[in-house]
Amino acid sequence: MTCHACGAPLAATAKFCHKCGAQVGGGQAPGWWVGLPWGVAGAALGALLAVLALRIGRSREPGAVPDGARGGTAAGSLLPAPDISQMSPEERATRLYNRVMTLHSQGKADSAEFFLPMALQAYAMLPALDIDGRYHIGVLDLTGGDYAGALAQADSIHRAVPAHLFAFMLRARAFELRHDAAGARRAYAEFLRNEAAERARQRPEYAEHADNLDAFHTQATQVAAGRTRAR
Ligand SMILES: [Zn+2]
Ligand SMILES: [Zn+2]
Repeated sequence: MTCHACGAPLAATAKFCHKCGAQVGGGQAPGWWVGLPWGVAGAALGALLAVLALRIGRSREPGAVPDGARGGTAAGSLLPAPDISQMSPEERATRLYNRVMTLHSQGKADSAEFFLPMALQAYAMLPALDIDGRYHIGVLDLTGGDYAGALAQADSIHRAVPAHLFAFMLRARAFELRHDAAGARRAYAEFLRNEAAERARQRPEYAEHADNLDAFHTQATQVAAGRTRAR
């Protein structure tokens, strides 16, 4: 199966596109407790988190050492598994966010729903939220069908940085989720209006989510041209 919005290849059971965030397949996400995978608990959960810790690289993070500045070592992939208990709250939240999105992209909706409340709780425990953190929460809200929560994060982002593209992205998705086509079109249009100037600012979170931005740009352009595809 491929994403109807951006064409990314997806697992047959995927409910959300990991590339552009579009909802895939019919219907709302059920509550996370539906089909709770009891097999993923206790020790198995710890093992999953350890695997996650190994797999999520830090290569695209803002402030990373520029290419070549460190002699091109591949040390990052050789480090021992980080101890979850030693992670900063921010790292833990980011890893859980990545976990949920990866599971969705693999079509493992049940597992994603299992991790969703953990991810949201990890963000709720952070003393302060930056724009990227708010975007992550908004995307997590969307995977759970909570468009009101996603809109609230979009509003917070918009208040902090009125032209920030993440606010328009969250709004478009949230409006789509509640079948408000006019609202979604407005959000797409605002995205396109601000896109060039905003991306020229080279915000670190834009680099981190370049794939999402590119996929969203394609969809926004299609919507603006009146070529929305039938659902
Ligand atoms: Zn997509
Ligand atoms: Zn991010």
